[in-house]
Amino acid sequence: MLFRQLFERESSTYTYLIAARKGGEALLIDPVKEETNKYLQLIRELDLRLVFAIDTHVHADHVTGLGDLRNATSCVTIMGAQSRAECVSRKVQDGEIIRIDGLELRALYTPGHTDDSYSFVMSDRVFTGDTLLIRGTGRTDFQNGDPEAQFDSLFGKLLKLPDEMLVYPGHDYKGWTVSTIGEEKAHNPRLQVRSKQEYVEMMRNLKLANPKLMDVAVPANLSCGLT
Ligand code: FE
Repeated sequence: MLFRQLFERESSTYTYLIAARKGGEALLIDPVKEETNKYLQLIRELDLRLVFAIDTHVHADHVTGLGDLRNATSCVTIMGAQSRAECVSRKVQDGEIIRIDGLELRALYTPGHTDDSYSFVMSDRVFTGDTLLIRGTGRTDFQNGDPEAQFDSLFGKLLKLPDEMLVYPGHDYKGWTVSTIGEEKAHNPRLQVRSKQEYVEMMRNLKLANPKLMDVAVPANLSCGLT
């Protein structure tokens, strides 16, 4: 497998490029609009053909590259069924499989950070978007975020995956790049709660400032970053 973890500094966003082999089909997870040319260059250099561009949820902290990538490559844009972004060409349901060459990506509905948040599971790794971060979890205080739903997504779905499964998040603010389910279970401070109530109270008391780009990014992302 060909795998690249790309980083966008302004919003500390990770974008993932995945392909089965050089010369084959590729997909991107959570591309950032400003980085589109970089992705296109890398795809060219690796002799890949971009077939899917996927957003894990409607982002509030950066503008998506989905629309620009579709214009440049005719790739299929994908989000979860609950997304209000009417611009995407394919909306996946919980459990649906996305296929490129021999690779399979299974959509896992993990609401809580937003009500349209999805994770994507491959054989040995899971892309957790902003649901599960390394030693953290995504905030739940806007865009229909819901700490109770997030608790269920974490404890009822993501943490039930095998302990050795690699965790690739949508962001990192401290320089962590990858973790595992087992490592997060043991060492993620947000996951050391004894009850759903305790988790919900912790999340309600975070009192974070809104992302700088929120008023621009959310409306732009509802039209795939093309405004
Ligand atoms: Fe987010």
